[in-house]
Amino acid sequence: MMFKLYLLLLNLSITISLFAQNQLISPFLGDVTPNQPATNYLMQQPETADVEYVNLNLNTLNNATNLQLKFDNLNYTVTNDSIALQGPQNYTWFGTNTTGDGYIIISVLGDDVQGIIRKGLETYELLTTAASQRKVIVKIDQSQYQQELCEFDSAIIDKTQENNGEELTNKSILKKALDTGCPIRVLVMYTPAAEADITGGGVMISDIKNAIQNTVEEMNNTFKESEITNYPAVEIALIQKWDYEEFSEFSDTIMVTDMAVDLNIFKEDSYVNRLRNDYDADFCTLIAAGSDFYGFCGVANDLRATTSTAYCLVANNCMRRNLSFAHELGHLLSAHHDVANARNEPFPYAHGYIYFPGRWRTIMSYNSLPCDSTRENRCARLPFWSNPDVNHPTDNVPMGTDSLENNARVLRDYNNNLAGIEQPENNITLSNSTYHSTNNIFTNLEIKQTITTNGNVVVQDDACFYLKAGESVNLNNGFESKPKADVEITIQQIEDCQ
Ligand SMILES: [Zn+2]
Repeated sequence: MMFKLYLLLLNLSITISLFAQNQLISPFLGDVTPNQPATNYLMQQPETADVEYVNLNLNTLNNATNLQLKFDNLNYTVTNDSIALQGPQNYTWFGTNTTGDGYIIISVLGDDVQGIIRKGLETYELLTTAASQRKVIVKIDQSQYQQELCEFDSAIIDKTQENNGEELTNKSILKKALDTGCPIRVLVMYTPAAEADITGGGVMISDIKNAIQNTVEEMNNTFKESEITNYPAVEIALIQKWDYEEFSEFSDTIMVTDMAVDLNIFKEDSYVNRLRNDYDADFCTLIAAGSDFYGFCGVANDLRATTSTAYCLVANNCMRRNLSFAHELGHLLSAHHDVANARNEPFPYAHGYIYFPGRWRTIMSYNSLPCDSTRENRCARLPFWSNPDVNHPTDNVPMGTDSLENNARVLRDYNNNLAGIEQPENNITLSNSTYHSTNNIFTNLEIKQTITTNGNVVVQDDACFYLKAGESVNLNNGFESKPKADVEITIQQIEDCQ
């Protein structure tokens, strides 16, 4: 009898330890009173459906191949897929739902842990509060988001006249992902308002640079999942703060804001364009105030962008949850909205897709009819581009049509044109005027010959500082790298993107 009891206890302890070893997320049952300010901040956002505090055990990433996620009355398994190390305290981890209906992408930057969770039609964000670094999962109701502000009538007329419709019909109609190509390099800048918004005025740890990295990692995943590129499509050239206050004015006591005005000032700014040039960025995105300030989630300067028009602006609260960062890049690459919200020129098949029976839509589609914002008719924007040759993972229907809804085709066709907009510089000198170490966390510089530093250039803890040069990198007096910084210097041949 004693023996049996002993065995039983042993079994129990094994079960408990296995449980602990693979439980990545579980409900937090302790006292969350100290986090009330964070709860208030999260709940006051229109797109927040619910907030749940959780335990997050990142140690499980090292010792289990299948990880358990328990939150929002769900209990499911993800596979421990891959980890992208950017630095000792800076990495992104990917896990895929074993049921095939989504994934989790967690980005860690020092104390800040953020992530995106997609599960069927649901979207969640994982965030860290300032009070005892408590982890919280925010359930998002995408139907509460405003649309993006994207009108391209004049751009469409220009493009149709330019190409006379020929380029599209003559381009290849490859039905599979590009294996090789140049990454599209992006300069991401953010305003002080965006930075403050994302921390809720200090109640969240959320670092905007970590949020941007996480957003770009997910966006690259959408290019792979929708069979557009088999390599990471977008490469961050630089993340940098831009000291700009969003335009607003009072008109008859009503505050008027204008996203298009802010985009235009961003586009014309000489500092922005000098960074774009130095860091070889094909397009530039400004992360600015929230959609409640603007009334819109984002705007792109052009459909099928050129050197002078490859700019967009995205509201900070829409960039990841609502996939608006990807949406605006989609426009620059020639993708348009769903059929009801776009014209047929210059690419009749360049629309986003809506599948009403499944209540979902792709990145370029609005929540438009027959979808609407009522509970029963709302259609979730999924992290996919329209593509008739890729089936929805669980509904098993094509995610587009050949004639009208094939964003994947236009994205592939224009990918290298956009990637070739800016080419690497021959030489660069980094001084404290070009490299602002206090707000910079991510630098990825590619120069054909020589990179030289001049004066005080300091790489802060948790910063990523990647220098690639064809001939030499000269770090002169005044260059300093803090102990936890991630500095990588590579000598390799750097060529123009053809
Ligand atoms: Zn749009």
